[in-house]
Amino acid sequence: MTVEFICEQCERDVMLNVASHDDHACQYCKTKYEISPSKSMRAGGKVDHCLSCDSDQFYVQKDINSTLGIAIFIVGVIFSYHTYFISLAVATLINFILYKALGTVTICYRCRAIYRGFEEDPAHRGMDRDLATSLMDEQEKDATVDKPRAAAADKSNTV
Ligand SMILES: [Zn+2]
Ligand SMILES: [Zn+2]
Repeated sequence: MTVEFICEQCERDVMLNVASHDDHACQYCKTKYEISPSKSMRAGGKVDHCLSCDSDQFYVQKDINSTLGIAIFIVGVIFSYHTYFISLAVATLINFILYKALGTVTICYRCRAIYRGFEEDPAHRGMDRDLATSLMDEQEKDATVDKPRAAAADKSNTV
């Protein structure tokens, strides 16, 4: 079971193993992260709260690697001329099977942390755009509260 989010320091994708009791740190810049998964989460159960922002609102989506899907399709197109379009049908079929075989991921509405390998919670539906927008607005309000600190950081960058 893993959680993936954007590192606060280096802004790259950090992936942490939720089941592990070891120290969690960004694999690139070594920033330490204190995560506190619930018992159920450690055991691969439902995601009940976000380890990154503590929100409890999530949506689920298919864990499809779209780049891979497109690559298979392009290969299918390239070979279709020689194989009388059989490869195109095969590529489409492979994509379809991949899609079926793939599990789902749980994603936090607030911070977009991605949870893989957990039990799917039936209460978590597909993404709700209205909810996502309202939570984003909330986040923007939070950000304005932090402004003095952000402004100070800007100044030090320009000097
Ligand atoms: Zn980092
Ligand atoms: Zn979150």
